[in-house]
Amino acid sequence: MAQGKSNNTQADGQISLFGDMPEVEEGMSEAPSSDAAKSPRARAAELNRLLNTYAYRYYALDDPAVTDAEFDRLVRELKAIEDLHPELVGPDSYTQRVGGYVSEQFEPVRHASRMYSIDDAMNLEELDEWLARTDEALGSTPEHPVAYTCELKIDGLGVALTYRDAQFVRAATRGDGTTGENVTANVLTIAGIPHALAANGLAKVADGGLGQSIEVRGEVYMPKHSFVRLNEGADAAGREPFANPRNAAAGSLRQKDPKVTAHRDLETFIYAVADEAPLSVNTQWEFLQWLRACGFSVNPNARRCTSAHEVHEFCADALAHREDLDYDIDGVVVKVDSFASQEALGFTARAPRWAIAFKFPPEEKRTVLREIRIQVGRTGVLTPVAEFDPVFVAGSTIARATLHNIDEIRRKNVRVGDTIVVHKAGDVIPEVVGPVLELRPEDAPEFHMPTTCPSCGSPVIREEGEVAYRCVSIDCPAQAHERLCHWVGRKAMDIDGLGDELIGKLVAAGMVSDVADFYDRLTETALAACPTGRVSVAGDDILVGKTIAAKVMAQVEESRGRGLARVLFGLGIRHVGEQVARSLAKEFGSLTSLMSADEERIAAVEGVGPKIAHSVREFLSVEENAAVLERLREAGVVLEEEQTGEAAPQTLAGLTFVLTGTLERHTRDEAKAALQAFGAKVSGSVSKKTSYVVAGAAAGSKLTKAEQLGVPVLDEEALDRILETGEAPAA
Ligand code: NAD
Repeated sequence: MAQGKSNNTQADGQISLFGDMPEVEEGMSEAPSSDAAKSPRARAAELNRLLNTYAYRYYALDDPAVTDAEFDRLVRELKAIEDLHPELVGPDSYTQRVGGYVSEQFEPVRHASRMYSIDDAMNLEELDEWLARTDEALGSTPEHPVAYTCELKIDGLGVALTYRDAQFVRAATRGDGTTGENVTANVLTIAGIPHALAANGLAKVADGGLGQSIEVRGEVYMPKHSFVRLNEGADAAGREPFANPRNAAAGSLRQKDPKVTAHRDLETFIYAVADEAPLSVNTQWEFLQWLRACGFSVNPNARRCTSAHEVHEFCADALAHREDLDYDIDGVVVKVDSFASQEALGFTARAPRWAIAFKFPPEEKRTVLREIRIQVGRTGVLTPVAEFDPVFVAGSTIARATLHNIDEIRRKNVRVGDTIVVHKAGDVIPEVVGPVLELRPEDAPEFHMPTTCPSCGSPVIREEGEVAYRCVSIDCPAQAHERLCHWVGRKAMDIDGLGDELIGKLVAAGMVSDVADFYDRLTETALAACPTGRVSVAGDDILVGKTIAAKVMAQVEESRGRGLARVLFGLGIRHVGEQVARSLAKEFGSLTSLMSADEERIAAVEGVGPKIAHSVREFLSVEENAAVLERLREAGVVLEEEQTGEAAPQTLAGLTFVLTGTLERHTRDEAKAALQAFGAKVSGSVSKKTSYVVAGAAAGSKLTKAEQLGVPVLDEEALDRILETGEAPAA
């Protein structure tokens, strides 16, 4: 599949800056290890070929074939050969280029000045060598030490934003450094990008910005929580997942249709400017303040340092807090602070001499793959899951990771019995990187997808154009189990107490098989007598019992009134996520009205489109589903949406809230939905642009960050007042 994708893309007419694309070899050990028998010339040529291939996969297809660590290792091997044999350094060598790609899909844009890469320091010794070299070149003395600005290295996609007469006019990707791709329409959908430079910043621009063209640069990234949500959606819909937040951001920004980008929750951090900019700013540190004054989102974690010791401290701090951030970072960028000194140092062919990227070591561990288990999802998708010996990675112990689909297993070339390398994608999602082929047992069998569903034995099919295999039965107990779990979930009907395990028992006992059974079949007495799956010391089954049963049934009762949006989401219709369910409920107001709408009418709803409309129509036309909906109605489940959200004036539009800690009277999702109903944006991370942080009990790092940044912090009472009045507190 991935290979097919690369071929297709080239056939679509994209230009390759890497010459002819060689066949991509698959798997962890695809890069032939350094071969002592090869001449340096042959090995350099081989490395260039591999690097071009991998870079194409990474930059053009947003689908990397190897890990960044492996890629960087190959670049360094090539550099080491070229250091010993300078005659091998040609203009086409990967070490002389800014890696990147310009697709024909976008109009080419020439950058105001070249966008460079940054040289790496892979450890503290290399960082120290660079600091010492730079100090010396700039004549640093104890009285007048050279100052450095340290910033987090955001693992996103570099972009350039052009403002003319202080108005945003164009956005481009880095591309090959000289020419990028025009992604203006897509960038316009990113909420945090100012459409005009704020007056506060214009004071430092010649002529107040009028008649001036300014190109600022930064990173477009996808927050980790959005990445997790996106990949969960991809899995459920049988689509290809993204390898990490960086690729998800790049794939989302480089879309033909800006509407797709608009739904991908991208954010930015801006940190640089093209050197022609007419600014009266003299240092990187001042420049960051200027960017803030203009209204850009600037990463708050930066420090001006005047010694190697302070730089080390910053790097150690960044590494220690890496997992607390809601975005991926892959290191620290250390920049000479003074612009005049930067100019004096200049650039090499691919990178500035005045900056270095201190790269974090990758958090990867080895373990043994014991089983590939097939999980059947609520839409019948069969997902292979790797079960491996528990191993501690990036802050927690992991023992399983999704392998997504059979194509992914083939691409990664993993087999049961393999020693595998695992890590956490985006520091969050456990992922199998690949096998260590030298340690593969001789009898390790190749994996095949089952031809029948492991839960119900029904045939398994693979629909055309899809990577996923599905169980076709509508009576499949595993699907029923997943559907029921989805229905009771917090974001759907929010029935606390009906956990995964208990639902399993209820299904096995034949007490529930569809969502209507919770309301018209399950009784308190039957639930009380249901075994929990746990056993007492005496060996007897522990039953649910009267007290718990009463509590659970009270919650079931309460859930009848959650409204149409939650019901539509809870039904687990393919492609219908929370947002789509809300849009449909808002548009149609009642299930009756949605049921009578045709596909075209549904597709016309904002954020829906033909694919989702088809899936909704298909779901509603299945007789069994219509019967379940009718039973829900008869059982008193509300199938209308109160139109308060629609009627609410958008008094909080333009404000961004962050919710943190435990709220007593609202779940986070409720508070989020209520704020959104007034037009507010609710974000997962605190930045200078956050308008308010609402902090409940045991609020942690987000509260600290809000305090550091001077963002107003509200308690739950203040939140209640906002939700009552729809008005934000006075500044
Ligand atoms: P780089 O990503 O290592 O560093 C330069 C980039 O860092 C800049 O262009 C900028 O976009 C970004 N950046 C983030 N925060 C910044 C900040 N605060 N200040 C300045 N710049 C900041 O170099 P590169 O040339 O863009 O790409 C190389 C990276 O891409 C490596 O990490 C490499 O592993 C990865 N890569 C991986 C593959 C693969 O197959 N896995 C292929 C190609 C490249």
